[in-house]
Amino acid sequence: MSEAAGCHGGRETLEAAARAAGKSLVMDELTKNYPRGPHDQPQSMCPAFGSLRVGLRMRRTATILSGSACCVYGLTFTSHFYGARRTVGYVPFNSETLVTGKLFEDIRDAVTETARPEDYDAVVIINLCVPTASGVPLDLLPKQINGVRIIGIDVPGFGVPTHAEAKDVLAGAMLRYARGEAEAGPVARPRQMIDGERSVALIGELFPADPMGVGAMLQPMGLTVAPQTPAREWRDLYAALDCEVAAAVHPFYTASIREFRAAGRPVVGSGPVGHDGTAAWLDAIARATGTTAVQLDAAKARALPAIKAALAAAPISARITVSGYEGSELLVARLLSEAGAEVPYVGTACPRTEWSDADREWLEARGTHVQYRASLEQDMAAMREVKPDLALGTTPLVQKAKELGIPALYFTNMVSARPLFGAAGAGSMAGIVAAQTRGRERFSRMVSFFEGVGTPDGAGYGFRDKPVDPPGFRERQRKIQAAKAKAEESVGT
Ligand code: SF4
Repeated sequence: MSEAAGCHGGRETLEAAARAAGKSLVMDELTKNYPRGPHDQPQSMCPAFGSLRVGLRMRRTATILSGSACCVYGLTFTSHFYGARRTVGYVPFNSETLVTGKLFEDIRDAVTETARPEDYDAVVIINLCVPTASGVPLDLLPKQINGVRIIGIDVPGFGVPTHAEAKDVLAGAMLRYARGEAEAGPVARPRQMIDGERSVALIGELFPADPMGVGAMLQPMGLTVAPQTPAREWRDLYAALDCEVAAAVHPFYTASIREFRAAGRPVVGSGPVGHDGTAAWLDAIARATGTTAVQLDAAKARALPAIKAALAAAPISARITVSGYEGSELLVARLLSEAGAEVPYVGTACPRTEWSDADREWLEARGTHVQYRASLEQDMAAMREVKPDLALGTTPLVQKAKELGIPALYFTNMVSARPLFGAAGAGSMAGIVAAQTRGRERFSRMVSFFEGVGTPDGAGYGFRDKPVDPPGFRERQRKIQAAKAKAEESVGT
């Protein structure tokens, strides 16, 4: 396995190498959980960032990467950019340690040295692309060392399509481990656990105020909110698994949902977003938990009028396209649509699962095209086609939108920086979008003012005049390309 192989090394080659190196079971599991889409390589950041982030956000958990130095550099940089403030462990390798199996021994030594029970509950070790393709067998590591759990996962870019799904790889592995522990005997008591409390376990990384808002919404039904998945502390995993019902608010957590089901917990999809979404979600929770009609009515009477008022206070009159890779794109589109927006297109890099069916059906009934596993090209084509008043999307899409004079917002920042659910979500999300869509005319003026600046010939820094091609350069290139095309034609391709 070449050290140079990576994101651009060819998925088929890397996958074949991983299978030949004994990782067939891992690759089958990843393919089953995270079906692939139109693009065959990650179009956003390295997927492993999702797993790394989940590990770094957990208390008393050490996270170690095994992969090429350039991948580890990028992942570490991104982690600290997002304020990890935690050490990212790294087991380096070279061709020799990779080929001779010494890398596995180095990993085992690193894990053993790190597994200090006074500091950690768990040590996570993540195989990136090259060690996965080379078959470094993390499953042969001890399951625990000195009472510290060892969680080894393979998160290759050629097997996990998005960083969102990579969060599920680690969250699912931890839930499986914790479920095994709970089934085997008594486990540590979760903090703030109250005996006899019936709870709803929310699945997905949410804005911190959202679980509190959902908790208030559920209170008239005699329900509380369990610690979220991905968890922030090991013992929270037990409390989550002990829920009455799991709510797949982010619908792509396939491995985690499997663990909740294996623990005998029902699972509901969608989320309490907007007026209709909240009403339908509360109905689904009530059905799954056997809540009485009186309790359900009380919950609705508390939540729904406030949501209606918040939506009415920030009406949106604009055409908006939504694209992202967080997994909450359909929920955001529902909220915007309820606030009055026309949403002709929603693209999500995540796959279609049954947990977003209700949202998809609701949106499609209102004329929205829902694209799962959307590629950047599809998102851009939709934006050009429908010419929205506002595009919510990924960084490259926002850049393109701005070039075209279309107001645009970066989806991740917008969603992760404000609540989405209940009245708080309706007020803040609809409010910011309503403010942005009023700026379209300003954008058009900016585009005409800056016309040509920063575009090919005008790009760059430090030139006084327009750059001039080296004499004859373009003509030479044209001839080289023509000769190449002719040569290919003559041998046939
Ligand atoms: S680990 Fe990430 S950055 Fe490295 S080659 Fe794989 S997908 Fe690319």
